Amino acid sequence: MRMPVVFFGHGSPMVAIEANQTSRSWSDMAAGLPRPRAILAISAHWETQVTAVTAMGRPKTIHDFGASFPKALFDKQYPAPGDPALARRVAELLAPTPVALDAGQWGLDHGTWSVLVHAYPQADIPVVQLSLDVTLTPDARFELGRKLAPLRDEGVLIMGTGNIVHNLRAMNWGDAACAPYDWAARFNDEIRAAITENQPERAVAFASMEKEAPLAAPTPEHFWPLLYILGARLPTDRVRLFNDRIEHGSLGMTSVLIEDARAAVSQAA
Ligand code: ZN
Repeated sequence: MRMPVVFFGHGSPMVAIEANQTSRSWSDMAAGLPRPRAILAISAHWETQVTAVTAMGRPKTIHDFGASFPKALFDKQYPAPGDPALARRVAELLAPTPVALDAGQWGLDHGTWSVLVHAYPQADIPVVQLSLDVTLTPDARFELGRKLAPLRDEGVLIMGTGNIVHNLRAMNWGDAACAPYDWAARFNDEIRAAITENQPERAVAFASMEKEAPLAAPTPEHFWPLLYILGARLPTDRVRLFNDRIEHGSLGMTSVLIEDARAAVSQAA
């Protein structure tokens, strides 16, 4: 069975230890998917100078957030195994792009585990992370996603984890349900349209929204994982948005499930 690909708007690390609308959506989402053999996660929180994959057997849980977060969050562990064979397979698929096999520098960062503690709480599915090479163009990210698509027929769930709109400075911290800024709504609407109308080149060209992009994606690392996910879309897929809202004015939670339309029909039947 062909696996779907998913982009998760991950929001605050606190969701990892909360039971709320977002955390429930992640567990419900995973419960409705075919069980993956392994997970390849592309997280906003791993930026490198070359594309890298975690290739260790036991990736550590990385607590990559500020000291002001509570001890309960620092205590959280996600002890999923790694999958060195999958790491090598990723390198093979992305050739001739050089891929560094990371034997112990990185692990699982909170972009990945804050979602997976809810989606797959048993931590019994191997997880590999793919880094964001900061030197790549948006086009190149889309192309890497396209090259990863064969993994979908090998039982691998490819997930991106970031946020389409991500401006922490502008956030209204006191009110999650406040109206989004106009620029946030316009940026999110354009990217949503690019996804639902299957015109990924509009998402690749996000920076051409000259007024909105510098505010909605002031640093683009939270947006980038979406481009890999859109690259892995196949012609027989259909798309569904979930958590389609902007919280705190400038934190976009909009998330994307891309799945084989034929499999989706047979599941419903
Ligand atoms: Zn983040």
